[in-house]
Amino acid sequence: MKTMDVVIIGGGVIGASIAYHLTRAGVRDVVLLERNELATAASSRAAGLVLEVTGKPAKQPLVHQTLADAYDLEEMLGEDIGFRRVGSLRVAQASDRIVELDRMAKVAEQTGVRFAWLTPQAAGSRVPWLATDETSRYGYFQDDAFADPYRLAMAYAKAAQAGGVSLKPRTSVFGIEIEQGRAVAVTTSEGRIASGSVVNAAGAWANALVSPVDQPLAFTPVRSHYWLVPPTAGYPPDHPITVLPDVPGYTRPELGGLLVGVQENQSLAFDARTLAGDETAHTIAEREDHWDVLVEKMPALSALAPEAENWEIAHYVAGLSCYTPDGLFLLGASPSIEGLFVAAGCCGSGVAASGGIGAALSERVTGSTLSYDLGPFALDRFGSIDPNSTEFQARCTDARAHKATGSNRSA
Ligand SMILES: Cc1cc2nc3c(=O)[nH]c(=O)nc-3n(C[C@H](O)[C@H](O)[C@H](O)COP(=O)(O)OP(=O)(O)OC[C@H]3O[C@@H](n4cnc5c(N)ncnc54)[C@H](O)[C@@H]3O)c2cc1C
Repeated sequence: MKTMDVVIIGGGVIGASIAYHLTRAGVRDVVLLERNELATAASSRAAGLVLEVTGKPAKQPLVHQTLADAYDLEEMLGEDIGFRRVGSLRVAQASDRIVELDRMAKVAEQTGVRFAWLTPQAAGSRVPWLATDETSRYGYFQDDAFADPYRLAMAYAKAAQAGGVSLKPRTSVFGIEIEQGRAVAVTTSEGRIASGSVVNAAGAWANALVSPVDQPLAFTPVRSHYWLVPPTAGYPPDHPITVLPDVPGYTRPELGGLLVGVQENQSLAFDARTLAGDETAHTIAEREDHWDVLVEKMPALSALAPEAENWEIAHYVAGLSCYTPDGLFLLGASPSIEGLFVAAGCCGSGVAASGGIGAALSERVTGSTLSYDLGPFALDRFGSIDPNSTEFQARCTDARAHKATGSNRSA
């Protein structure tokens, strides 16, 4: 049996970022345990939007850190990590959406984020397929980007490994051992690993690792999805992300075509106890009802993208995204078990916030000076809940359905 300083459960973008930030903090004996291959669950399916200013100000410093990490990783690894700094154009049509955009513009100004109002003509020249008009408002966030989420996760993992972290794919964690109110070890397919600290970053499966003596984690896995439009003349590969809250939806360039996300009025929720490994995501992707979502939103989408009705759809991608009732993550130290930390409930912006989540969790684990306020992400802020009850799931799917309208701008 080996004793580690820190065991991280879950080799997605969040676990990998925590591992990377622990090495930056000088922690050496760290192991990252992943039951499949690294970054093959939600982190390989995300649209990868990295949007800094949202209606959730608590997330902003976390996303800011990701933007900084991407530069550091590119320099450290000396390679393209698939991070594209194309900016994002937010289009506001209805009056409420214009008020939201106005508020975001003020936040950008107060926090030093580069923002510009664009005329309809300027917006149309940046996004050639966009139909513009004189009554809508167009706000451009220059520093926003999109990541290839798999490559970003692997970049964190590679950098962590270079810093001494032991990466263990194909290693399942069966449970976290608690002794006298303290996490002391994990049991795995490769044996027991004793550890000073344990971090649960197991994504949609995080609740399966919660001990019966602890509170369940307050999130529900929901379906998140997008469609891919094949390479199309006049769709430049480096044109901005668009955020279209009146649809609600978003686009970003993808290999000379488009990646198009549209949010459902009522997302599909899943009972975490019945989620099979990652096979659930494959089953979701085989469902046919996503076409209904696209058809339902087509009038709103084609008002902005007149070519949308003729888009060929080359591919449909779906996966599990984990939502809390208020659209904020679950981050920090367990209030009831010493030495146990959680990074879960990533509300469709775990890629965007991965850098800050890694840095903030590393600070909590090492007990160093705290530079991120994790108060809004406290694990116990919803009180006693049953994550599998219909009532609780409805609160989470509601948060998902309303995220684009000011409360959150990522996928
Ligand atoms: C279609 C789609 C679009 C999205 N778009 C965006 C976007 O534009 N921007 C954005 O920021 N986010 C987006 N997201 C959300 C984003 O994918 C997640 O927030 C992020 O990937 C979460 O990372 P993670 O590491 O927590 O989870 P995961 O990548 O799911 O990693 C968790 C890992 O834990 C492992 N694991 C679980 N249990 C165990 C165990 N017992 N033992 C060992 N390993 C275990 C799993 O195998 C898995 O690999 C999107 C998600 C989807 C599905």
